[in-house]
Amino acid sequence: MSYIFDLDLESIQNMMAGWRQPGYRARQLWQALYHDLALFPLEINTLPNSLRQNLASEFGQGQVNGQVTFSRLSPVSIQHSSDRQTQKTLFHLSDNRLIEAVLMSYDRRQTLCISSQSGCAMGCVFCATGQMGFFRNLTKGEIIEQVLFYARELASQEKAVTNVVIMGMGEPFHNYENTLGAIDCLNHPEGLNLGARRFTISTVGLVPMIKRFADEKRQVNLAVSLHAADDELRQSMLPVNKKYPLAELMLACKEYIDKTHRRLTFEWALIDNINDTPEQAIKLAKLLSGLKSPDGNLLVHVNAIPLNPTHKYAGKSTTRQRAADFAAELEKFGIPCTVRVRRGIDIQAGCGQLAAPHVQNYMAENNLDKIPE
Ligand code: SAH
Ligand code: SF4
Repeated sequence: MSYIFDLDLESIQNMMAGWRQPGYRARQLWQALYHDLALFPLEINTLPNSLRQNLASEFGQGQVNGQVTFSRLSPVSIQHSSDRQTQKTLFHLSDNRLIEAVLMSYDRRQTLCISSQSGCAMGCVFCATGQMGFFRNLTKGEIIEQVLFYARELASQEKAVTNVVIMGMGEPFHNYENTLGAIDCLNHPEGLNLGARRFTISTVGLVPMIKRFADEKRQVNLAVSLHAADDELRQSMLPVNKKYPLAELMLACKEYIDKTHRRLTFEWALIDNINDTPEQAIKLAKLLSGLKSPDGNLLVHVNAIPLNPTHKYAGKSTTRQRAADFAAELEKFGIPCTVRVRRGIDIQAGCGQLAAPHVQNYMAENNLDKIPE
């Protein structure tokens, strides 16, 4: 069954032309999907009935409450943190794979953290997604639908998605085309119209893709997960460092800044006595010191997050004091650093906690571990 959210506007235009529909029908459908957030083909009352029927038979993905739906994402569990500021939704995909997406509500911002893959192949030792292994890439539509799901929910409260971070399950640069394709659709002015600057992609450091991204000169923000400032330590935490050691990674970061003049964020999960030491802070400052704009401004920001606990990693989170000292050490070198407040830890919605026990429980309860890949 074709999946409508995998199509871009041009493909929808071609399809409508094939169906001998007038030219404006494609835009009407596009607006229904991405502006009015339609889920059910038969309910799109801007389109004639016969066309709705065609859409239902071509793109229907089964029924929800007796209605044919376009959606391949079924929410199977929704959890709220005790302060109600964070919501995590577990989605079941049409092939039984599972993904999670998180909504973080701030005063005026509604930030979504969405997944790009089911599982992850990168195997970072402290990350629950890495610990579960890789299942598959998400399609463009599956990435888009996570945003549309929350956009619908927020619209019912007269709110809207303001920011999207691609920091959920998976490595977005391991699924480059679908991730960027999803952003392009969500960007579209006649649809959700979420500006490129509202998106942030976080990568573990896939050098060729950072270079490709630099060449595209997009307005989308980029974050690089660094976590250690020498190869030995980084390799022990992030296996990808063997393939793309720090020297190569930093060169790619320099190239990105030279080409785009955009600020790069570096992520750092603070682990007690492992990477929260003054020595690591000093090494990090040296690594970042060359990342400047042509007029000499440092174009970097360090996002330090106290490690979130995961089942298979014994390292402990830093203390509040050590986190503050780490940031202060960086500031001495003029490197701006924010120590982030952890969110949604009580529902395992923090960075690196997605697909934690909850998913495994769900899989066990539903016998999903026996589903072939
Ligand atoms: N694969 C991408 C994006 C998803 S992970 C990446 O690695 O960048 C999003 C962020 O969460 C990354 O910075 C990752 O290093 C961090 N992270 C993973 N596990 C974590 C944990 N247990 N505690 C805190 N941050 C973690
Ligand atoms: Fe994958 Fe990112 Fe987790 Fe590493 S930190 S295993 S790259 S999701």
